[in-house]
Amino acid sequence: MTSQEVRTQFLNFFKEKNHKIVPSAPMVMKNDPTLMFTNAGMNQFKEFFLGNTVPKSKRVTDTQKCLRVSGKHNDLEEVGKDTYHHTMFEMLGNWSFGDYFKKEAIQWAWELLTEIYKIDKESLYVTVFEGSKDADQLEMDKEAYDLWKAIVPKERILMGNKKDNFWEMGDQGPCGPCSEIHVDIRSKEEKAKIPGASLVNQDHPQVVEIWNLVFIQYNRKANGSLEDLPEKHIDTGMGFERLCMVLQGVQSNYDTDVFTPLIREIDTITGQKYGKNEETDIAIRVVADHIRAVAFAIADGQLPSNTGAGYVIRRILRRAIRYGFTFLGTKQPFIYRLVNVLVESMGKAFPELPKHHQLIENVIKEEENSFLGTLEQGLVLLDSVIKSSKDKTVSGEKAFELYDTFGFPIDLTSLILEEKGYKLDVEGFEKALKAQKDRSRAASEVSKDDWTVLMQDSEEEFIGYDSLEATVKLVKYRKVTSKKEGDQYQLVFNLTPFYAEGGGQVGDKGYLEASNGDVTYIVDTKRENNEIVHFADGLPKDVSGSFKAVVDKKQRWRTECNHTATHLLHQALREVLGGHVEQKGSAVHSKYLRFDFSHFSKLTVKELRDVENFVNARIEGQLPFQENRNVPIKEAMEQGAMALFGEKYGDTVRTVRFGQSIELCGGTHVKNTGDIWHFKIVSEGAVAAGIRRIEAITSDAAKDFYFQNNRMLYEIKDLLSNAQDPVKAVAGLQEENTALKKQVEQLLKDKARGLKNELISELKNINGVQFLAKKVDLDAAGIKDLSFEIGGQVSDVFLLLAAENDGKALLSCYISKDLASNKGLNAGSIVRELGKHIQGGGGGQPFFATAGGKNPEGIPVALANAEEMIRTTT
Ligand code: ATP
Ligand code: MG
Repeated sequence: MTSQEVRTQFLNFFKEKNHKIVPSAPMVMKNDPTLMFTNAGMNQFKEFFLGNTVPKSKRVTDTQKCLRVSGKHNDLEEVGKDTYHHTMFEMLGNWSFGDYFKKEAIQWAWELLTEIYKIDKESLYVTVFEGSKDADQLEMDKEAYDLWKAIVPKERILMGNKKDNFWEMGDQGPCGPCSEIHVDIRSKEEKAKIPGASLVNQDHPQVVEIWNLVFIQYNRKANGSLEDLPEKHIDTGMGFERLCMVLQGVQSNYDTDVFTPLIREIDTITGQKYGKNEETDIAIRVVADHIRAVAFAIADGQLPSNTGAGYVIRRILRRAIRYGFTFLGTKQPFIYRLVNVLVESMGKAFPELPKHHQLIENVIKEEENSFLGTLEQGLVLLDSVIKSSKDKTVSGEKAFELYDTFGFPIDLTSLILEEKGYKLDVEGFEKALKAQKDRSRAASEVSKDDWTVLMQDSEEEFIGYDSLEATVKLVKYRKVTSKKEGDQYQLVFNLTPFYAEGGGQVGDKGYLEASNGDVTYIVDTKRENNEIVHFADGLPKDVSGSFKAVVDKKQRWRTECNHTATHLLHQALREVLGGHVEQKGSAVHSKYLRFDFSHFSKLTVKELRDVENFVNARIEGQLPFQENRNVPIKEAMEQGAMALFGEKYGDTVRTVRFGQSIELCGGTHVKNTGDIWHFKIVSEGAVAAGIRRIEAITSDAAKDFYFQNNRMLYEIKDLLSNAQDPVKAVAGLQEENTALKKQVEQLLKDKARGLKNELISELKNINGVQFLAKKVDLDAAGIKDLSFEIGGQVSDVFLLLAAENDGKALLSCYISKDLASNKGLNAGSIVRELGKHIQGGGGGQPFFATAGGKNPEGIPVALANAEEMIRTTT
């Protein structure tokens, strides 16, 4: 059975049991502060379990892209080393939201596995929660046990502890006991040697858990206690790749058709052979696994980056690059070359892959290039660390520095050290690593109290498309404390005009006014589990009263200008650059907007101008805002509305239209594009390979921009004595300045030449010596240049030039070389002798020497003495 068939059969089985097939939610989480990535099929339904939203269908089935690389469920370090844990995997699931419970869930699971998939009953084991003696004091799941006993022999029903048989998504939230189904795929001989029951939950690669049936009946509260949920739910998850392994009769997930095409391609590219050597096998599995996680993340809109979810993705990719580098000998980018095969094998089930094929390849290739560069740099650095280490041991701090600043993996460091006969201070490294983790944990720690509920079963209503003010009542509240924000209160109302952050648009700010006039500020609004949560700087005194809730109109309006402009910008880019342009990210603030989009090269000045003009033409066109709040998604797509990958859409959507631009959007907008006043791009640049970013301003910010520029212009005009045309005036000044500079240069040259000629004319012949002793207005360098120039022009020269600079005296003596040797003159001894008059000393060569002194008054005597000296000695 091919993997495609395995998937389809699962979904069809539950479809026949009245389940609605729904698409996988994006793997990258958007509106959940507690999770970065989807780590289980149930994440996207959390709001149903919590009772915040009433589901349209009470029975649902799907295959969900999951990623387990951070938080409570983190399998990253196992991946590659074992054969049945992946970073990204598909979880097949069926759900009941307050509908059927344990009986049907257990029966159907058994029916599907044994009758449809025809797995040998004898090889299946099931587990039941045994209860707990800890603070929760939970009883054994007798209900599940009895249900299983009716279909499975007692020997194959095993009791499981809390770690294995009580499922929790995170520290808080819906949870409950579970029954796992394990399968033993060992050979008959091996089964005879060791009974399968003793290998369940023992990390045996051929006795693995494939399906987990979770019976959600509790909610874990902030203080750690459990409360009963008003309704009971079913949440099941079956590992798709493990199921394929079982059904295809192979011993490893990597031997199924989900992975073999990738592994063949890795063999071809690297010249290795999977299955020959455990070390290279691990590396090949790592690469085959990680390419999937990274490609799916990029398709979902999460690019590798330096923070948050992007950093997790970058680390996964780097792990693959490093395994390749160390064990497969790949010194050039190669992982991006696997994208083709991946798209071929998974593109049908996940159309986001072929859609973003080129982008995925570009991004991975660039990441590979840059990390390989870092590895090389790291190797050089490591070399210098090794050279400076004593006792053949490299300190933990040094290794940590390499790891922390260069992303140089510690196992690579220790491997290289080992090869060179050095040791690594592992303990020191662990200590440094732990210290860093503690620091970042302390910084990001948020503690949340439980909700205090004032009104039961109240569904919150958002009225902020139409009103910015309302009389509201508090439904529930809780305190949250974080290092960053301090104490805040989260408030949920029965209705609210506040827009919650979403679709790139920031959350509203504003205030609450109690009937006695007390004011509480709302500093932010966010959506959590489909509830609009207001972040307040305090808790109103009388929580049961009514409040006037008022949105900060100015900030909202400025944000709306930017949001509408974002839609026009998107349209402009597609018009000016082409249909390949797609939104890759957007941030709509009150002060500016930021828009990331796919495009391969820098925008030219003309393109930027065309984009601005396009948007401004639509602003001048005063296009009215047309919205439709309840369009079936199919209809909206047929109208040409643009949907974004990585966004989760319901069956009906809201469309927003300005002229030709029609988009699926939940954000708020101006009533008419004319309100925006003007659109101005302030920057354009690259974010990643093939992704550009534009930042722009509108309305008040654009006015400010022009106002500032205008003021600057007035100041310039003022400086230019109110010139009519300041540009011409500045150009004129620049021209004049160039001409003046030239003149000054010429004048300086003329002056030097004039001085030289003057001095030459003053030379007098004393006993065949062309003699001059004179005080001049030059510095030491100028005197030297001048002396040599005169010496080059006239022969038999003796020059004694003196100068006074900054209260100091300078004597400089130049003698033509021939003259010096013929007459036995020595400039060095002459300046030393004459230097006495200026209270200084000096020296140099026989033909040129200088002396400095602190008595300028002695200069005339020195000059007179020089003449005397020449007269008497020559
Ligand atoms: P295990 O103990 O094997 O790590 P788990 O208890 O973490 O499994 P669940 O959280 O119950 O698993 O997830 C439901 C199903 O998803 C599992 O039965 C298994 O088939 C599959 N699964 C879990 N983690 C992974 C993974 N990292 N890679 C592939 N499949 C997985
Ligand atoms: Mg696990």
